[in-house]
Amino acid sequence: MTALRIDGKAFAANVRTQVAEHVTRLKADHDITPGLAVVLVGEDPASQVYVRSKGKQTVEVGMKSFEHKLDRDTTEADLLALIDRLNNDPAVHGILIQLPLPSHIDSDLVINAIDPAKDVDGFHISNVGLLGTGQKSMVPCTPLGCLMLLRDHFGSLSGKSAVVIGRSNIVGKPMAQLLLGDSCTVTIAHSRTADLPAVVRQADIVVAAVGRPEMVTGDWIKPGAVVVDVGINRIEAPEKGLTEDGKAKTRLVGDCDYASCAEVAGAITPVPGGVGPMTIACLLANTVTACCRANGLAEPQGLTA
Ligand code: NDP
Repeated sequence: MTALRIDGKAFAANVRTQVAEHVTRLKADHDITPGLAVVLVGEDPASQVYVRSKGKQTVEVGMKSFEHKLDRDTTEADLLALIDRLNNDPAVHGILIQLPLPSHIDSDLVINAIDPAKDVDGFHISNVGLLGTGQKSMVPCTPLGCLMLLRDHFGSLSGKSAVVIGRSNIVGKPMAQLLLGDSCTVTIAHSRTADLPAVVRQADIVVAAVGRPEMVTGDWIKPGAVVVDVGINRIEAPEKGLTEDGKAKTRLVGDCDYASCAEVAGAITPVPGGVGPMTIACLLANTVTACCRANGLAEPQGLTA
């Protein structure tokens, strides 16, 4: 079998189009422009790239982007004061603190200082609790993106057996909650799971969020299963030659070995071009959802869990 390649890039473009249409209606009918504030502390190069990309895409869908770039030495108190200002700013409907934060800042404290209604990352303890109890919440962007891709593929997920590999607060746990919410039978696997390949082989749906390059191989996959690869890992690619300073060039790979998994799976997301583009698209979707909720307006359909 050669698996269907799930095109997350195209799906994300479609989500952005839907967001842009909703933003246009909000402006025309209510004179409201959704606004997203992104806060970056420090100069981590990968974080800078993400923040730039978030800002660009926010503007492209017609929303306002507020970027706050703070020095690495910013104190926790100063960051909390900024969050307080953003919480009280009516032009800001979504607040995202780019993680990781420098080690002198308590990330949990900072995230829990965000107004839960503006917590478009869905990491605030209130949103975690709401999601866990099946109530309306802000849903973390990466798992939401995976859920959208799976719903689009299957229609209904009810009764499917799902294995989520990884139990992080940002991907694994909320992913499992979302699949449970769609009536899957869910197993959460992690580094202490016994005989992981045998556990994965039971699944109709495999979501890999591990951070280990190409760990999941085709012999772990039940024939016809759908594989969602969340992993983003940079590995050396000697076949691409050397950089100007003599180092091996690199390439991105997921947590799944695409070639062998694609021989057995029914469908699979590639890396890059699978889950990755969905994450920012869902951030924009969450911002427009937050804006509608804040103003007591109808939410866009199909853009949240
Ligand atoms: P974390 O490091 O927080 O969590 C990794 C999880 O994988 C842990 O629960 C860990 O188990 C588990 N794990 C580690 N090694 C093994 C193993 N050998 N067997 C089974 N389980 C294992 O990572 P994140 O959840 O933050 O991210 C996971 C991956 O997803 C990364 O590659 C990251 O870059 C990517 N990512 C991609 C995003 C996107 O937009 N596409 C967004 C966010 C993340 P334990 O708890 O026991 O240690």
